[in-house]
Amino acid sequence: MNKIISSGTRQKTFINEDLIWSEMEKATDPAPSLVQEILLKARERQGLTPFEAAVLLKNTDKELDNEIFNTAMYIKKKIYGNRLVLFAPLYISNECVNQCAYCGFNAKNEDLDRRTLSSDEIRKEVEVLEDLGHKRLLLVYGEHPKYNAEWIAQTVRDVYAVTSEKSGEIRRVNINCAPLDVAGFKTLHDVGIGTYQCFHETYHQETYNKVHLAGKKTDYAYRLYAMHRAQEAGIDDVGMGALFGLFDPIFEVMGLLYHAQQLEKDCGVGPHTISFPRIEPAQNSELAFNPPYLSSDHNFKKIVAVLRLAVPYTGLILTTRENAEFRKELLEVGVSQISAGSRTYPGAYSDPEFDRPDVQQFCVGDSRSLDEVIHSLITAEKSYVPSWCTACYRLGRTGEHFMELAKTGFIQKFCLPNGLLTFKEYLEDYASEETKKAGNELIRKEIAGYPDADRKNLLTERMTRMEAGERDLYL
Ligand code: SAM
Ligand code: SF4
Repeated sequence: MNKIISSGTRQKTFINEDLIWSEMEKATDPAPSLVQEILLKARERQGLTPFEAAVLLKNTDKELDNEIFNTAMYIKKKIYGNRLVLFAPLYISNECVNQCAYCGFNAKNEDLDRRTLSSDEIRKEVEVLEDLGHKRLLLVYGEHPKYNAEWIAQTVRDVYAVTSEKSGEIRRVNINCAPLDVAGFKTLHDVGIGTYQCFHETYHQETYNKVHLAGKKTDYAYRLYAMHRAQEAGIDDVGMGALFGLFDPIFEVMGLLYHAQQLEKDCGVGPHTISFPRIEPAQNSELAFNPPYLSSDHNFKKIVAVLRLAVPYTGLILTTRENAEFRKELLEVGVSQISAGSRTYPGAYSDPEFDRPDVQQFCVGDSRSLDEVIHSLITAEKSYVPSWCTACYRLGRTGEHFMELAKTGFIQKFCLPNGLLTFKEYLEDYASEETKKAGNELIRKEIAGYPDADRKNLLTERMTRMEAGERDLYL
């Protein structure tokens, strides 16, 4: 049962900046023995405190950095195996009344053509995405008074309504929209959204005030408690994140971890996912072209690795903001979900007129198609099993229940077989010949190496049924 704190106590921030600064100070120049001790604890999948995360991030010894990466790889493998969940963002609107200094959708950007998709346009976009093989979408919206909860809920219904014999259906719709009140979140819950995602951007209040210049998003506390309100409304899976590049990245990681801790304390369950977008150039945004706290690739990879150690059972999401080569490196240290073939302008999947880099929300770093991404994932030296699995969500294994199950090795027992079944579906219905050939070989190897004989037989039987035309089979 979720423990929810009353709305009245939610005005004050729980991000204690003095504490974060003092812990960061204490973590400076850490003794190698302390780093090793923390890594030993992380290996036991116990997670890390914000202070321990800061110690790892403050380490500058190259060899110990490699140990941090190796430990993250170990944890990733232990908990998630080689499975990787795939999704696509679907931008519904780019009209926005806020003025976030880093975003191309900023109300002051007069060069952007504003667009809000109609139900019919949403249908066209979803048809293209379904034809490519997508089953999980993340809907993205600007913030505008006309996009109220009921309006957003209708766009979700529009997406779920697009089904076809040939291309199947979208099975999970996640949402990234401005924070709502509890009643608004209930409206979204009622139409069956998956994860509600909202990034706090920066946990440093002064910086937050500096980069959010107008609109509702200027209210730091209202945004900070968005996840609490979503959970209060019954949305079990919530996704948090920070926009890296606005402020000191170690401060941001600690902010994320304190946020996660508070959510778990107040609501009984922490974040289902964490995202860590790095600022990309965006139209007419001086800040996005010259972010004040740009992390090097090495340090960014360390952030991902440390998050994997700090919250081992939380999904880590990587988008196409990063380029293809670097994405491969980040997968190894802990990412569990990636987007592929993304367009960040409303209408850009179905209408080539909007499929131009100059109008996107930010510059996409990996512009490969879904099939190209999959081909590279399955033929890489360390190959991955692409998954579109939504079984847990559909069987009610979400939030608290999901976390409990995840901790008992359940991910390996259910997620890998179910991932393989969805991958088979992809190969049968959407893959290029080359991908199909490599994919079937990977499935064969995975089943051959599967340790449990009963499940192995079950899987083989389901694969045969898939080849005969059955779909949407899961354990
Ligand atoms: N309007 C809603 C909001 O602000 O929460 C949701 C949509 S907004 C487009 C989604 C996310 O995009 C933001 O939370 C922010 O982290 C990210 N974003 C904005 N500008 C970006 C940029 N220049 N580069 C990378 N990510 C950016
Ligand atoms: Fe609008 Fe969100 Fe972009 Fe801010 S980040 S300008 S709220 S779309």
